[in-house]
Amino acid sequence: MNLKEKTAEILKRLKREYPEPKTALNFSEPFQLLVATVLSAQATDVLVNRVTEGLFKKYKTVKDYADAQLDKLQKDVSSVNFYKTKAKNIQAAARIVVEEFNSKVPGTMEELTRLPGVARKTANIILSNAFGINEGIAVDTHVKRLSNRLGLTKSEDPVKIEQDLTVLTPKEEWGNISHLLIFHGRQICRAKKPLHSECVLYDICPSGNI
Ligand code: SF4
Repeated sequence: MNLKEKTAEILKRLKREYPEPKTALNFSEPFQLLVATVLSAQATDVLVNRVTEGLFKKYKTVKDYADAQLDKLQKDVSSVNFYKTKAKNIQAAARIVVEEFNSKVPGTMEELTRLPGVARKTANIILSNAFGINEGIAVDTHVKRLSNRLGLTKSEDPVKIEQDLTVLTPKEEWGNISHLLIFHGRQICRAKKPLHSECVLYDICPSGNI
């Protein structure tokens, strides 16, 4: 089995384990996903969903974030870490979306990454989950760890990992692969004490003895 075939086998098995690969963040329109994704940096999806439940009722449009008093917006997200910077970025992004994009979140990597707080990973999440566009692969800490353990990359650099994964997988799977590796990383292939004996990839994984 070459590396491309092995990656296809990994995807096949993970899809069987996790039949609905999608983000665990709750949202109903693109700017809500942007807000949730910005808040989720180094915070759990559960906590972010708890915070956004009230936030999305209070701030209904992009303009509501743009016009908010920053200290009030910060207070509304204060249970999430780095909330001051995150709220500041959300408001700055909202103002650009209102002023330059007619209050609609743009649908390209180039435009999205111009927004404060939106780097390539966040942009990939928004493009894939809100617009159904597979422009690249969102590489978070789980994707980074599992790609290395499974031998799909030798790099620690998210940009290089994304490049390696895009070469190994068909474009239509780019959104899925991120979710599948994240689910598997959370449930089985944890950072500490990975559950090798419960892993469906054990026989094709070069790291089953770490
Ligand atoms: S065998 Fe172990 S290291 Fe490899 S993917 Fe499964 S849990 Fe992770």
